[in-house]
Amino acid sequence: MNIIYLDNSATTKMDERVVEEMIPYLSENYGNPSSIYSIGRENKKVIEDAREKVAKILNCKADEIYFTSGGSESDNTAIRGIAYANKKKGNHIITSKIEHPAVLETCKQLEKEGFEVSYISIDEKGIINLEELKQSIKDTTILISIMFANNEIGTIQPIEEIGKIAKNHNIYFHTDAVQAVGNILIDVDKLNIDSLSLSAHKFYGPKGVGALYVRKGVNFNKFINGGHQERNKRAGTENVAGIVGLGKAIELAYEDLEEHNKKIRELRDYYVSNVVKRIPYIKINGDMENRLPGNSNISFRYIEGEGLLLNLDLKGICASSGSACTSGSLDPSHVLIAIGLPHEIAHGSLRISIGKYNTKEEIDYLIESLVEIVGRLREMSPLWEKVIEEEK
Ligand SMILES: *Cc1c(COP(=O)(O)O)cnc(C)c1O
Repeated sequence: MNIIYLDNSATTKMDERVVEEMIPYLSENYGNPSSIYSIGRENKKVIEDAREKVAKILNCKADEIYFTSGGSESDNTAIRGIAYANKKKGNHIITSKIEHPAVLETCKQLEKEGFEVSYISIDEKGIINLEELKQSIKDTTILISIMFANNEIGTIQPIEEIGKIAKNHNIYFHTDAVQAVGNILIDVDKLNIDSLSLSAHKFYGPKGVGALYVRKGVNFNKFINGGHQERNKRAGTENVAGIVGLGKAIELAYEDLEEHNKKIRELRDYYVSNVVKRIPYIKINGDMENRLPGNSNISFRYIEGEGLLLNLDLKGICASSGSACTSGSLDPSHVLIAIGLPHEIAHGSLRISIGKYNTKEEIDYLIESLVEIVGRLREMSPLWEKVIEEEK
């Protein structure tokens, strides 16, 4: 059976051109970048080339980029690193209720260590409440960490406004841009971003490699101790092949950004409008304007997301209910709860995230499958019987 992959917010298939670029560094180019002989020095150079590529995309300097093992490490490093290094100035951190666990769990850990954290609410569309953000600022606030785009409902936050607020109050601003990089043009200077996380596997690059941008002058403690790699901020022999792959992937993502986004957005809108037309009792979650091009999140009432996912899987369709991390558990997604969905509606939600390799035929197959599966699951639900009764 063909696999129809519609879970591009969880991870993406590597671009063949990225794979090709990486292969030499998985075999003959094995030198340690810290060694002084040529095969080491050459690998040092390719890392610096990748760093330049990332810096060019984000409009920062190459020595403001640190390579990490991915989005989670970048978030942990930025938040803990800035918190520890600026403890003397204050112990208050502001974040939102809809962050990725890499941010939320880090903040919870810091609370146990004596930091104070404010979790800002969002409106029913998933956009942060800027008034609440401003009002929560205190003399002791050292860091604001708000995600660029949400991984479950795709909403894009007013990053420029948040950057201004942070700058006006002399507070550092970190953003988890793991879902945004590769989809949105980002200029860290213009947006007043002090720190930003990205991860290669979310934009057709390899897993287990990411980057952290930290503006020069922003003090942060290192997270992994050991050797002097990454200008003494992140120890460990570099993931040369991964870093080369990340560099290639980010370059490719921005080469064809407009063209891909247009196609992806059209497929997403086609899917959503067909679901609206053909399946009753649904709710579209998130904001339709400020939204990632490939993301859709729809709640189907009177059914369980898990049942939906299992049935889609039987048809070869890969999708998600809530975030990739929560879809394995039965707790409703914290993001859907934060936008005000009751538990029973949050449970019946389906995230479809479309990527550059998807086709219209695949979306048509998805729509037909959904109409059939949702109808069948509802017929098995006692709640549905009541709905039908009441309609009569
Ligand atoms: C995927 C994701 C992460 C984690 O990135 P990894 O590279 O998988 O560690 C963090 N934040 C967001 C918003 C994500 O989507």
